[in-house]
Amino acid sequence: MRQVSCRNCGNRVLVEKYSEAHTSVQWLEESQVVCPELGRENGRANAQRTCGALRQTINDLADAGELEMSLRSYPVPGKLS
Ligand SMILES: [Zn+2]
Repeated sequence: MRQVSCRNCGNRVLVEKYSEAHTSVQWLEESQVVCPELGRENGRANAQRTCGALRQTINDLADAGELEMSLRSYPVPGKLS
């Protein structure tokens, strides 16, 4: 996991990249409080639970090769490694 801060609102998240298509984002704080872009979505369904600036920040890091692909496979419930 790598900690990334939204360059717009400073919201901190943990990002782990499993593949080109799958990037896992884990919120560290109450996102609707800390991210104004999410706050605006309040009251509406925001299925993505992300803000555009944060998404762009993550994309830029990925493009720059700063997000290493995780070597871990998906957690498999019930299986001990
Ligand atoms: Zn944000």
